[in-house]
Amino acid sequence: MNLELNNRVAMVAAASKGIGKACAVALAQEGCKVSVCARNAEELEKARAEIADHSDVIAVAADVSSVNDLENWYRQTIDRFRQVDILVTNTGGPPVKRFMELSDEQWLAGVESTLMNVVRLSRLVIPGMQERRWGRIIHLTSLVAKQPMDELTISSTLRAGLSGLTKTMANQVGPHNITVNAILTGHIMTDRQQALADVRVKERGITHEEYFVGQAAEIPLRRIGEPRELGEVVAFLASERASYVTGVSLQVDGGLVRSTL
Ligand code: NAD
Repeated sequence: MNLELNNRVAMVAAASKGIGKACAVALAQEGCKVSVCARNAEELEKARAEIADHSDVIAVAADVSSVNDLENWYRQTIDRFRQVDILVTNTGGPPVKRFMELSDEQWLAGVESTLMNVVRLSRLVIPGMQERRWGRIIHLTSLVAKQPMDELTISSTLRAGLSGLTKTMANQVGPHNITVNAILTGHIMTDRQQALADVRVKERGITHEEYFVGQAAEIPLRRIGEPRELGEVVAFLASERASYVTGVSLQVDGGLVRSTL
């Protein structure tokens, strides 16, 4: 299948490692020019070098919670590649805490890093996409949008909201031939997944091995996913082949979410 992504320009947020990097690599492998950001310049440079094996890439140090950083990243992308065709929003995970453990500051920081970066980045790229009458916006969120988890209180709250935002954005930019979709990520083996495991093994008094065997047993496909398996779905949604798919919150979770809708 030809995805027709050659020379499309993609911005991928929070992409120095994990799922974000896998999306950037998958898009680069399909011929996209890629612009990535993350906070840590050293980690980001390693990712840039890896992505550069496949395509043209720039990396800009940016905290997705910062308005100025997002504007600077967008400006540098336009300076280098002239336009943005594909936006993949992503961020680090909000704190792993139950409701009564969370302060106002943590809630507000969660809103900045999980919700407002999506709003701000989308606002930056949509006008150019509207002019060219082509665009793909993909929000990386989480299965907790559909199946909330007690210790992921902020994430569960905001990611359900992001599915609402995905649908309302899709309705409003559809007439300009821009699609907007969300990926509800399941358990994918990344540093974030390891950090969640660290919290849970302590709580439950079990080993990491016992924890991951238990996790896999709950997943119909009986295994934790690889970042590449998410990146490839994002490349498909970004492609010409997904031209009639919009407003969808798509689970990529090995079947973990049990509901039908
Ligand atoms: P990860 O820790 O492996 O990678 C996170 C990336 O985000 C890194 O590149 C990091 O530098 C960057 N980052 C973090 N905070 C940032 C900020 N404020 N500004 C810019 N960059 C920032 O994590 P991951 O597993 O790839 O997770 C990515 C997202 O997917 C998270 O929001 C996480 O909650 C969500 N998610 C992950 C899983 C999973 O199983 N891995 C499941 C569901 C949802």
